[in-house]
Amino acid sequence: MEAHHLQSAICERARSWISLREDDELSEFECALLDAHLARCAACAEFAADVSSTTLTLRAQPLETLSRLRIEELGFPPPELQVRVDRPRGRGPAFLDFAWPEHGVWGEADGGGKYLGSGVVEGARRSPAEIVRDEKERENDVRSVTKWACGRWDWDEAWNGGVLRGILLRAGLPLVASPRR
Ligand SMILES: [Zn+2]
Repeated sequence: MEAHHLQSAICERARSWISLREDDELSEFECALLDAHLARCAACAEFAADVSSTTLTLRAQPLETLSRLRIEELGFPPPELQVRVDRPRGRGPAFLDFAWPEHGVWGEADGGGKYLGSGVVEGARRSPAEIVRDEKERENDVRSVTKWACGRWDWDEAWNGGVLRGILLRAGLPLVASPRR
């Protein structure tokens, strides 16, 4: 009973550390203790895997949210989200992050790529070179089907509204409202 109680206290601590580590708030020493526990405790190791796959999803989403807010704030028309384009030669559908079909522009926010190495998503099975090649092929496919121009940005570029503004203007998207700030 005593031993069981101690074990659950350790697991409880481990689980709070798992969340802290996802936010880079754990010291090196605590990381080492945590890893030692995860090596011995299957339940906590499974918990850690769940947390990191959830974090991957959450980290990918804020870039899209930030981008949507910026696009609106800058005075561009509201985009359609996750627009489906059927790729040629049976390569399956592509879902575009942002699209303005009436303006012939689509946009991709590249936030997920940085985290593909964490071993959770299918990207982990592809090398960085393969990811770049697949992205290029996807972009070419979308262009050949839609004839739309592509604007592509990452986290820093979305954060810096001026950069995102330039990217979208160069792709041919018009400003339809005055900037909000
Ligand atoms: Zn445990």
